[in-house]
Amino acid sequence: MIKLFKIRTFNIFLLLLLSASVFLFNCKGKAEDEPEPEEPEEIIIPTNTPAVERWGQLSVEGNRIVGKDGNPVVLRGMSFFWSQWPEGSKYYNKDVVKWLRDDWRCTVIRAAMAVDQIHGGYTTSPTIAEREKAKIIEVIDAAIDNGLYVIIDWHSHEAEETVEDAKAFFAEMAQTYGHYPNIIYETYNEPINQDWSTVIKPYHEAVIDTIRHYDQNNIIVCGTGRWAQDVDIAADDPIMGRKHIAYTLHYYATTHGRFLRGKANYALNKGLALMVTEYGTCEANGDGFLDKEESQIWWDWMDSHRISHCNWSVSDKNETASALVRNANSLGGWTEEEISPSGKFVREHLKSKNPAPAE
Ligand code: CA
Repeated sequence: MIKLFKIRTFNIFLLLLLSASVFLFNCKGKAEDEPEPEEPEEIIIPTNTPAVERWGQLSVEGNRIVGKDGNPVVLRGMSFFWSQWPEGSKYYNKDVVKWLRDDWRCTVIRAAMAVDQIHGGYTTSPTIAEREKAKIIEVIDAAIDNGLYVIIDWHSHEAEETVEDAKAFFAEMAQTYGHYPNIIYETYNEPINQDWSTVIKPYHEAVIDTIRHYDQNNIIVCGTGRWAQDVDIAADDPIMGRKHIAYTLHYYATTHGRFLRGKANYALNKGLALMVTEYGTCEANGDGFLDKEESQIWWDWMDSHRISHCNWSVSDKNETASALVRNANSLGGWTEEEISPSGKFVREHLKSKNPAPAE
Protein backbone atom coordinates (compact mmCIF):
# COMPACT_ATOMS: atom_id res chain seq x y z
CA MET A 1 0.00 0.00 0.00
CA ILE A 2 2.70 2.45 0.97
CA LYS A 3 4.67 1.68 -2.15
CA LEU A 4 1.60 2.16 -4.37
CA PHE A 5 0.83 5.46 -2.70
CA LYS A 6 4.35 6.69 -3.38
CA ILE A 7 4.16 5.76 -7.05
CA ARG A 8 0.82 7.55 -7.43
CA THR A 9 2.13 10.68 -5.70
CA PHE A 10 5.19 10.68 -7.92
CA ASN A 11 3.00 10.33 -11.04
CA ILE A 12 0.81 13.25 -10.00
CA PHE A 13 3.96 15.31 -9.40
CA LEU A 14 5.23 14.46 -12.90
CA LEU A 15 1.87 15.36 -14.44
CA LEU A 16 1.85 18.77 -12.72
CA LEU A 17 5.42 19.44 -13.86
CA LEU A 18 4.50 18.55 -17.45
CA SER A 19 1.38 20.76 -17.41
CA ALA A 20 3.40 23.70 -16.08
CA SER A 21 6.03 23.28 -18.82
CA VAL A 22 3.41 23.12 -21.54
CA PHE A 23 1.72 26.24 -20.15
CA LEU A 24 4.99 28.19 -20.00
CA PHE A 25 6.01 27.07 -23.48
CA ASN A 26 2.67 28.18 -24.97
CA CYS A 27 2.81 31.57 -23.26
CA LYS A 28 6.28 32.23 -24.59
CA GLY A 29 5.78 31.34 -28.26
CA LYS A 30 2.45 32.91 -29.13
CA ALA A 31 2.15 36.28 -30.87
CA GLU A 32 -1.00 38.20 -30.06
CA ASP A 33 -2.71 38.45 -33.43
CA GLU A 34 -1.48 35.16 -34.82
CA PRO A 35 -3.74 32.10 -34.66
CA GLU A 36 -1.92 29.05 -33.36
CA PRO A 37 -0.26 27.53 -36.44
CA GLU A 38 -0.22 23.79 -36.73
CA GLU A 39 2.97 21.81 -37.02
CA PRO A 40 4.97 23.26 -39.95
CA GLU A 41 5.70 19.83 -41.43
CA GLU A 42 3.91 18.88 -44.60
CA ILE A 43 1.21 16.27 -44.49
CA ILE A 44 2.69 13.03 -45.77
CA ILE A 45 1.17 12.29 -49.13
CA PRO A 46 1.73 9.07 -51.04
CA THR A 47 3.11 9.66 -54.52
CA ASN A 48 1.33 8.59 -57.68
CA THR A 49 -2.07 9.31 -56.19
CA PRO A 50 -4.60 11.67 -57.74
CA ALA A 51 -5.76 14.40 -55.39
CA VAL A 52 -9.40 13.42 -55.08
CA GLU A 53 -8.63 9.75 -54.56
CA ARG A 54 -6.27 10.76 -51.76
CA TRP A 55 -8.40 13.33 -49.91
CA GLY A 56 -11.92 12.47 -51.06
CA GLN A 57 -14.88 14.46 -49.84
CA LEU A 58 -13.68 17.73 -48.33
CA SER A 59 -15.46 19.43 -45.49
CA VAL A 60 -15.06 22.45 -43.24
CA GLU A 61 -14.12 21.74 -39.62
CA GLY A 62 -13.72 24.94 -37.61
CA ASN A 63 -11.33 27.18 -39.53
CA ARG A 64 -9.82 24.32 -41.53
CA ILE A 65 -10.67 22.47 -44.71
CA VAL A 66 -10.21 18.78 -44.08
CA GLY A 67 -10.17 15.63 -46.19
CA LYS A 68 -12.11 12.40 -45.77
CA ASP A 69 -9.82 11.28 -42.93
CA GLY A 70 -10.43 14.51 -41.00
CA ASN A 71 -6.92 15.91 -41.50
CA PRO A 72 -6.36 19.42 -42.91
CA VAL A 73 -5.74 19.57 -46.65
CA VAL A 74 -3.81 22.21 -48.60
CA LEU A 75 -4.73 22.25 -52.28
CA ARG A 76 -2.35 24.12 -54.57
CA GLY A 77 -3.02 24.88 -58.19
CA MET A 78 -3.87 27.30 -60.97
CA SER A 79 -6.80 29.50 -61.83
CA PHE A 80 -7.84 29.79 -65.43
CA PHE A 81 -8.23 33.34 -66.80
CA TRP A 82 -11.53 35.10 -67.62
CA SER A 83 -13.38 32.57 -69.76
CA GLN A 84 -14.69 35.04 -72.37
CA TRP A 85 -11.42 36.55 -73.56
CA PRO A 86 -9.14 34.76 -76.04
CA GLU A 87 -6.03 35.08 -73.86
CA GLY A 88 -7.74 32.70 -71.44
CA SER A 89 -10.56 30.90 -73.22
CA LYS A 90 -8.32 28.92 -75.59
CA TYR A 91 -6.90 27.07 -72.57
CA TYR A 92 -10.28 25.83 -71.33
CA ASN A 93 -9.80 22.29 -72.61
CA LYS A 94 -9.09 18.80 -71.33
CA ASP A 95 -5.52 18.69 -72.64
CA VAL A 96 -4.54 21.72 -70.59
CA VAL A 97 -6.23 20.29 -67.49
CA LYS A 98 -4.28 17.05 -67.85
CA TRP A 99 -1.04 18.95 -68.46
CA LEU A 100 -1.63 21.09 -65.36
CA ARG A 101 -2.01 17.91 -63.37
CA ASP A 102 0.86 15.93 -64.90
CA ASP A 103 3.49 18.59 -65.45
CA TRP A 104 2.56 21.38 -63.00
CA ARG A 105 1.30 18.98 -60.32
CA CYS A 106 -1.83 20.99 -59.64
CA THR A 107 -4.21 19.35 -57.19
CA VAL A 108 -6.89 21.99 -57.81
CA ILE A 109 -7.88 24.19 -60.73
CA ARG A 110 -10.32 27.07 -60.93
CA ALA A 111 -12.69 27.70 -63.83
CA ALA A 112 -13.34 31.46 -63.84
CA MET A 113 -16.57 31.91 -65.74
CA ALA A 114 -17.06 35.52 -66.83
CA VAL A 115 -20.49 36.72 -65.70
CA ASP A 116 -21.03 40.47 -65.91
CA GLN A 117 -22.54 42.05 -69.00
CA ILE A 118 -19.99 44.85 -68.85
CA HIS A 119 -17.31 42.22 -69.56
CA GLY A 120 -19.34 40.32 -72.14
CA GLY A 121 -19.95 37.44 -69.75
CA TYR A 122 -22.71 34.92 -68.97
CA THR A 123 -25.49 37.42 -68.24
CA THR A 124 -25.04 39.25 -71.57
CA SER A 125 -27.40 36.96 -73.51
CA PRO A 126 -28.67 33.36 -73.47
CA THR A 127 -26.32 32.52 -76.37
CA ILE A 128 -23.28 33.83 -74.53
CA ALA A 129 -24.44 32.08 -71.36
CA GLU A 130 -24.44 28.72 -73.16
CA ARG A 131 -21.07 29.46 -74.73
CA GLU A 132 -19.40 30.34 -71.43
CA LYS A 133 -21.03 27.45 -69.58
CA ALA A 134 -19.77 25.00 -72.20
CA LYS A 135 -16.17 26.07 -71.51
CA ILE A 136 -16.63 25.60 -67.79
CA ILE A 137 -18.22 22.19 -68.28
CA GLU A 138 -15.28 21.00 -70.41
CA VAL A 139 -12.89 21.94 -67.60
CA ILE A 140 -15.08 20.40 -64.88
CA ASP A 141 -15.43 17.12 -66.77
CA ALA A 142 -11.67 17.02 -67.38
CA ALA A 143 -10.97 17.71 -63.70
CA ILE A 144 -13.20 14.80 -62.71
CA ASP A 145 -11.50 12.51 -65.25
CA ASN A 146 -8.08 13.53 -63.90
CA GLY A 147 -8.87 13.29 -60.18
CA LEU A 148 -8.49 17.03 -59.55
CA TYR A 149 -10.53 19.37 -57.40
CA VAL A 150 -12.19 22.11 -59.44
CA ILE A 151 -13.54 25.45 -58.27
CA ILE A 152 -16.59 26.62 -60.21
CA ASP A 153 -16.12 30.38 -60.00
CA TRP A 154 -18.94 32.86 -60.72
CA HIS A 155 -16.42 35.45 -61.87
CA SER A 156 -18.30 38.65 -61.18
CA HIS A 157 -17.88 42.04 -59.49
CA GLU A 158 -21.63 42.72 -59.22
CA ALA A 159 -23.24 39.33 -58.74
CA GLU A 160 -26.08 40.67 -56.55
CA GLU A 161 -27.45 42.34 -59.70
CA THR A 162 -28.11 38.97 -61.31
CA VAL A 163 -28.88 36.69 -58.38
CA GLU A 164 -31.52 34.70 -60.28
CA ASP A 165 -28.96 33.83 -62.97
CA ALA A 166 -26.52 32.71 -60.28
CA LYS A 167 -29.16 30.56 -58.61
CA ALA A 168 -30.16 28.89 -61.89
CA PHE A 169 -26.54 28.27 -62.87
CA PHE A 170 -25.48 26.83 -59.53
CA ALA A 171 -28.66 24.74 -59.29
CA GLU A 172 -27.71 23.11 -62.59
CA MET A 173 -24.09 22.62 -61.50
CA ALA A 174 -25.15 21.11 -58.16
CA GLN A 175 -27.68 18.81 -59.82
CA THR A 176 -25.16 17.63 -62.38
CA TYR A 177 -21.98 17.51 -60.31
CA GLY A 178 -22.92 17.69 -56.62
CA HIS A 179 -22.19 14.02 -56.02
CA TYR A 180 -18.57 14.37 -57.15
CA PRO A 181 -16.17 15.24 -54.31
CA ASN A 182 -14.14 17.16 -56.93
CA ILE A 183 -16.46 20.14 -56.92
CA ILE A 184 -15.99 23.38 -54.97
CA TYR A 185 -18.46 26.20 -55.58
CA GLU A 186 -17.33 29.83 -55.57
CA THR A 187 -20.48 31.92 -55.63
CA TYR A 188 -19.04 35.41 -56.14
CA ASN A 189 -15.48 36.15 -57.25
CA GLU A 190 -14.88 39.69 -55.99
CA PRO A 191 -17.48 42.05 -54.61
CA ILE A 192 -16.07 45.59 -54.55
CA ASN A 193 -17.66 48.22 -52.31
CA GLN A 194 -20.96 46.43 -51.67
CA ASP A 195 -21.93 46.15 -48.02
CA TRP A 196 -21.27 42.73 -46.52
CA SER A 197 -24.19 42.44 -44.14
CA THR A 198 -26.96 43.88 -46.31
CA VAL A 199 -25.87 42.93 -49.84
CA ILE A 200 -23.09 40.35 -50.13
CA LYS A 201 -24.09 38.03 -47.30
CA PRO A 202 -27.80 37.82 -48.29
CA TYR A 203 -26.70 37.09 -51.87
CA HIS A 204 -24.49 34.20 -50.70
CA GLU A 205 -27.24 32.82 -48.47
CA ALA A 206 -29.69 32.74 -51.39
CA VAL A 207 -27.22 30.94 -53.66
CA ILE A 208 -26.03 28.58 -50.90
CA ASP A 209 -29.61 27.53 -50.16
CA THR A 210 -30.17 26.80 -53.86
CA ILE A 211 -27.02 24.67 -54.03
CA ARG A 212 -27.88 22.86 -50.80
CA HIS A 213 -31.18 21.78 -52.26
CA TYR A 214 -29.17 19.41 -54.48
CA ASP A 215 -25.81 19.08 -52.76
CA GLN A 216 -25.58 19.00 -48.99
CA ASN A 217 -21.86 18.67 -48.44
CA ASN A 218 -19.49 20.12 -51.06
CA ILE A 219 -17.63 23.23 -49.96
CA ILE A 220 -18.99 26.63 -50.97
CA VAL A 221 -16.47 29.49 -50.92
CA CYS A 222 -17.98 32.93 -50.47
CA GLY A 223 -16.44 36.10 -51.87
CA THR A 224 -15.80 38.94 -49.41
CA GLY A 225 -15.82 42.70 -49.89
CA ARG A 226 -13.19 44.89 -51.52
CA TRP A 227 -11.91 42.37 -54.07
CA ALA A 228 -12.10 39.51 -51.54
CA GLN A 229 -9.96 41.20 -48.91
CA ASP A 230 -12.50 42.06 -46.19
CA VAL A 231 -12.53 38.66 -44.53
CA ASP A 232 -12.37 40.47 -41.17
CA ILE A 233 -15.73 42.14 -41.85
CA ALA A 234 -17.23 38.78 -42.82
CA ALA A 235 -15.79 37.33 -39.60
CA ASP A 236 -17.77 39.85 -37.53
CA ASP A 237 -21.02 38.79 -39.20
CA PRO A 238 -20.51 35.28 -40.58
CA ILE A 239 -23.01 33.19 -42.51
CA MET A 240 -24.92 31.15 -39.95
CA GLY A 241 -26.82 27.87 -40.01
CA ARG A 242 -25.18 26.56 -43.16
CA LYS A 243 -22.47 23.92 -43.29
CA HIS A 244 -19.18 23.61 -45.18
CA ILE A 245 -18.85 27.30 -45.88
CA ALA A 246 -15.45 28.92 -46.48
CA TYR A 247 -14.57 32.52 -47.31
CA THR A 248 -12.52 33.91 -50.18
CA LEU A 249 -9.28 35.78 -49.62
CA HIS A 250 -7.44 37.22 -52.63
CA TYR A 251 -4.01 38.84 -52.60
CA TYR A 252 -1.46 40.20 -55.07
CA ALA A 253 1.95 39.87 -53.49
CA THR A 254 3.53 43.14 -54.66
CA THR A 255 0.56 45.19 -53.44
CA HIS A 256 -0.63 43.21 -50.41
CA GLY A 257 1.45 42.04 -47.50
CA ARG A 258 1.39 42.09 -43.72
CA PHE A 259 -1.70 44.32 -43.47
CA LEU A 260 -3.88 41.88 -45.40
CA ARG A 261 -2.46 38.89 -43.53
CA GLY A 262 -3.46 40.71 -40.35
CA LYS A 263 -7.07 40.86 -41.55
CA ALA A 264 -6.89 37.18 -42.47
CA ASN A 265 -5.42 36.26 -39.07
CA TYR A 266 -8.32 38.08 -37.43
CA ALA A 267 -10.81 36.06 -39.51
CA LEU A 268 -9.04 32.78 -38.74
CA ASN A 269 -9.06 33.63 -35.03
CA LYS A 270 -12.80 34.19 -35.25
CA GLY A 271 -13.19 30.70 -36.72
CA LEU A 272 -13.54 31.36 -40.45
CA ALA A 273 -12.14 28.85 -42.91
CA LEU A 274 -10.38 30.70 -45.73
CA MET A 275 -9.48 29.73 -49.27
CA VAL A 276 -7.25 31.80 -51.54
CA THR A 277 -9.07 31.02 -54.77
CA GLU A 278 -6.94 33.60 -56.58
CA TYR A 279 -3.56 35.18 -55.90
CA GLY A 280 -0.96 36.95 -58.00
CA THR A 281 2.81 37.14 -57.73
CA CYS A 282 2.65 40.76 -58.91
CA GLU A 283 0.67 43.99 -58.45
CA ALA A 284 -3.09 44.06 -57.91
CA ASN A 285 -3.73 45.11 -61.52
CA GLY A 286 -2.16 41.84 -62.68
CA ASP A 287 0.98 43.51 -63.97
CA GLY A 288 4.14 45.21 -62.72
CA PHE A 289 6.85 43.88 -60.43
CA LEU A 290 7.10 40.13 -59.80
CA ASP A 291 7.67 40.00 -56.03
CA LYS A 292 9.24 36.62 -55.27
CA GLU A 293 10.13 37.50 -51.70
CA GLU A 294 6.63 38.53 -50.65
CA SER A 295 5.15 35.62 -52.64
CA GLN A 296 7.25 33.23 -50.55
CA ILE A 297 6.06 34.87 -47.33
CA TRP A 298 2.46 34.37 -48.46
CA TRP A 299 3.08 30.71 -49.44
CA ASP A 300 4.67 30.02 -46.05
CA TRP A 301 1.81 31.78 -44.27
CA MET A 302 -0.79 29.76 -46.21
CA ASP A 303 1.04 26.50 -45.47
CA SER A 304 1.22 27.28 -41.76
CA HIS A 305 -2.55 27.87 -41.67
CA ARG A 306 -3.40 25.08 -44.12
CA ILE A 307 -4.95 27.41 -46.68
CA SER A 308 -5.51 26.20 -50.24
CA HIS A 309 -4.65 28.46 -53.15
CA CYS A 310 -4.82 29.00 -56.92
CA ASN A 311 -2.50 31.26 -58.90
CA TRP A 312 -3.92 33.79 -61.34
CA SER A 313 -3.66 32.72 -64.14
CA VAL A 314 -3.50 30.34 -67.11
CA SER A 315 -3.29 33.04 -69.77
CA ASP A 316 -0.97 34.38 -72.44
CA LYS A 317 -2.01 38.02 -71.97
CA ASN A 318 1.03 40.26 -71.99
CA GLU A 319 1.13 41.02 -68.25
CA THR A 320 3.13 39.78 -65.26
CA ALA A 321 0.38 37.62 -63.74
CA SER A 322 0.05 35.45 -66.85
CA ALA A 323 1.68 32.05 -66.50
CA LEU A 324 2.33 31.79 -70.24
CA VAL A 325 3.97 33.87 -72.94
CA ARG A 326 2.09 35.03 -76.06
CA ASN A 327 0.84 32.22 -78.26
CA ALA A 328 1.86 29.42 -75.89
CA ASN A 329 0.31 26.17 -77.11
CA SER A 330 -3.43 26.13 -76.41
CA LEU A 331 -3.27 22.37 -75.72
CA GLY A 332 -0.62 22.44 -72.97
CA GLY A 333 2.71 20.63 -73.34
CA TRP A 334 4.48 23.93 -72.70
CA THR A 335 8.25 24.19 -73.08
CA GLU A 336 10.33 26.44 -70.82
CA GLU A 337 10.21 29.09 -73.55
CA GLU A 338 6.43 29.16 -73.46
CA ILE A 339 6.22 29.80 -69.71
CA SER A 340 6.47 33.31 -68.26
CA PRO A 341 8.76 34.27 -65.33
CA SER A 342 5.75 34.15 -62.99
CA GLY A 343 4.65 30.82 -64.47
CA LYS A 344 8.10 29.29 -63.93
CA PHE A 345 8.22 30.57 -60.35
CA VAL A 346 4.76 29.19 -59.51
CA ARG A 347 5.32 25.89 -61.32
CA GLU A 348 8.50 25.26 -59.31
CA HIS A 349 6.52 25.90 -56.12
CA LEU A 350 3.73 23.53 -57.13
CA LYS A 351 6.21 20.81 -58.12
CA SER A 352 8.07 21.15 -54.83
CA LYS A 353 4.93 20.95 -52.70
CA ASN A 354 2.35 18.78 -54.43
CA PRO A 355 2.38 15.03 -54.85
CA ALA A 356 3.17 13.50 -58.22
CA PRO A 357 0.01 12.50 -60.10
CA ALA A 358 -0.98 8.96 -60.97
CA GLU A 359 0.40 7.46 -64.13
CA1 CA B 1 -22.05 16.56 -52.60
